[in-house]
Amino acid sequence: MTMTQPLQDIELSEELIRKFDKSGPRYTSYPTADRFNSAFSEQNYVTYLAQRVESPGNPPLSIYVHLPFCESLCYFCACNKIITRDHDRAREYLRYLDKEMALVSAHLGHDRKAVQLHLGGGTPTFFNADELHQLMSMLRSHFEFAADAELGVEIDPRTVRDGTLSMLAGLGFNRNSFGVQDFDPEVQRAVNRIQPLEMVEQAVAQSRSANFQSINADLIYGLPKQTVESFSRTLDSLIRVAPDRIALYNYAHLPSRFKAQRQIVSGDLPSADVRLQIFLMSTRRLLDAGYVYIGLDHFSKPDDELNKARLDMSLHRNFQGYTTRAECDLIGFGVSAISKVGNSYSQSVRTVNAYYRHLDAGQLPVEKGVELDNDDLLRRRIIMTLMCSAPVIFDAIKRSHGIHFQAYFASEMALLEQYEDAGLIAIDATAIRVTAKGRLFVRAIAMVFDKYLARPSESTYSKLI
Ligand code: SF4
Repeated sequence: MTMTQPLQDIELSEELIRKFDKSGPRYTSYPTADRFNSAFSEQNYVTYLAQRVESPGNPPLSIYVHLPFCESLCYFCACNKIITRDHDRAREYLRYLDKEMALVSAHLGHDRKAVQLHLGGGTPTFFNADELHQLMSMLRSHFEFAADAELGVEIDPRTVRDGTLSMLAGLGFNRNSFGVQDFDPEVQRAVNRIQPLEMVEQAVAQSRSANFQSINADLIYGLPKQTVESFSRTLDSLIRVAPDRIALYNYAHLPSRFKAQRQIVSGDLPSADVRLQIFLMSTRRLLDAGYVYIGLDHFSKPDDELNKARLDMSLHRNFQGYTTRAECDLIGFGVSAISKVGNSYSQSVRTVNAYYRHLDAGQLPVEKGVELDNDDLLRRRIIMTLMCSAPVIFDAIKRSHGIHFQAYFASEMALLEQYEDAGLIAIDATAIRVTAKGRLFVRAIAMVFDKYLARPSESTYSKLI
């Protein structure tokens, strides 16, 4: 069956998906995190932080805090998490976060406002109200937040009690994201994550009463026991709950890399064809329900600021995915957190023991990173522009990077011909533009400009489907 059906501003074509859906990075950074290396040290990171103090006109800050604890294991999980019911571990972790923030803010100075904060995990709501109060006091004592800062938190609906959402709103949080994944009881049992629909309904209702500005829900397709029919029922329910944003992730089954996934019976996983049908059905249903396609696996309501940013070409991409905030320095805290400061990326150690050891020694817990050269910066700009489905304007690149686009990227331009022939991009003398047909394939188009893909990586990349 071949189906080509224009829907709003993207087109779904099963034939094109089969041909152009490639495994590839999600480009929340470029170079991607699997290219970071251990030659990048704490000293390099400190130098980048200090350089920012010395040069005027620095960008604002975006802060990420990784809170790794969860009470139970979801079998699909690929996050850096620690399964424990010992809540004393949260208090110990907070003490070390405070040490890390003190070290970073001493290097960074205090003149730059934070315009964005994201608490991710793990399960940020593993931390109780007192602990989250303490965390926010720490953050506010080390950093000054802009009055209109976006404060976002990932929430496991199973941890929501009466008053949880109003407590978070009271702390200043104005955006949240719920891990929903699938409402089907059989699927929930197969992935060890039992959370009835009512739980999510109540959490979203509480969020609305507490005046959260944007509520996101994550779904995952490709999970064990899923069928087109069962996922259709999940979508019915979620569309009724009506979050402002929906992320529709594709489950990548990599049990050799992620131990938790070994609990999943591979025979229960839907076939590649069923996954494709689930993806096509879900996308159609979300668009029919009035959501718009933002990019990659993200949808939003038309009046959500993500869509406004998409339409006025001010959409950006960072480690939290699509964002409306222009280029910021990203400061990550906690285990495995990634920072982006100036022309560098750095990542902290993955285990709490190593994290505590570094901080006890008065050192920032940097494990690896990368310094970007001019070619990396140029390619990053192009890749991020394409990932946001915005035009790559040759003159603008020439002005900022001093290159003649078609000459510098002669081999890439040749590789782009197949995408142009398929109608996924349009190229003229001035620009590369992603077409409506091409918006589902920005990852494959962006990959043309990734010079590291030719080199071996330990990572296994996911696909759209
Ligand atoms: S999916 Fe989220 S809640 Fe589940 S184990 Fe992973 S980090 Fe914890």
